[in-house]
Amino acid sequence: ELLSAVADVDALIIRSDKVTAEVIEAARNLKIVVRAGAGYDNVDLAAATARGIVVMNTPGQNSNAVAELALAMMIFMARNGFTPGTGSEIQGKTLGIHAYGNVGRLVGRKGKAMGMNVIAYDPFITDSAVFEADGVKKVNSVEELYKNSDYLSLHIPATEQTKGSIGYDLLMSMPKGATLVNTARKEVIDEAGVVRAMTEREDLKYITDIAPDAQAEMAGKFGKRFFATAKKMGAETAEANINAGLAAARQIVDFFKTGDTRFQVNR
Ligand code: NAD
Repeated sequence: ELLSAVADVDALIIRSDKVTAEVIEAARNLKIVVRAGAGYDNVDLAAATARGIVVMNTPGQNSNAVAELALAMMIFMARNGFTPGTGSEIQGKTLGIHAYGNVGRLVGRKGKAMGMNVIAYDPFITDSAVFEADGVKKVNSVEELYKNSDYLSLHIPATEQTKGSIGYDLLMSMPKGATLVNTARKEVIDEAGVVRAMTEREDLKYITDIAPDAQAEMAGKFGKRFFATAKKMGAETAEANINAGLAAARQIVDFFKTGDTRFQVNR
């Protein structure tokens, strides 16, 4: 579908469609691709760059939607998936934020507002004032983060470095009753490692809006300790869609009018 639609276009706004090397090859006039959203792993960056096509995302536009879902997921797990029985409160618990970017920061501030003790790890943010301004404690290693987090909210991008990096060892180091919340990307999880850790420790919980490949196995083995939404839904709010769509359109206009490449991701 995309292949025939792109033949003459100069600019492309995409959400979940894949812009493969084949699509780029077919789009002879293409000059700019904007992913209306944060992640852009559905664009073949190498192929785009080779053709001199500018690729952008719209950072921050849907962050609040994702952050609200992350908080909601913590409460959902604290209350046994909204089923009868005695739950727990998130107030007073330690929330660890893995990556303090656009989404991570909003989760940090909302966690503070809920009375949580918030710690965060992001090796690429060297200015500790960024954390201090939110009343968040910066920790210096991934190990320190997981070891101390009753709730761990994942906000790392999927990169060569992060893919499959969250697994057995990190989960096993978490405090009793800890919950892993993943609204980042499926690829950052080492699913076999998570299954092993949750099998060995019956107190650990995992909730995500990105169905794992091992969805059936996890649902079967872990009952209420595991939950995945039927469809990826972090950014699925009316507000986020409007914000991201408008930003994408604005960025394309600015690019053609003034050559603005501020949000380019393939430099
Ligand atoms: P962002 O680019 O604003 O922030 C990412 C942060 O990760 C940066 O601060 C960066 O320094 C940090 N980082 C990079 N590599 C790291 C590493 N190895 N260890 C620790 N930190 C590292 O991105 P964002 O907008 O906050 O998005 C965060 C994640 O959420 C991304 O994975 C994105 O794809 C995902 N996301 C999901 C949904 C959804 O619908 N569930 C919607 C939007 C974004």
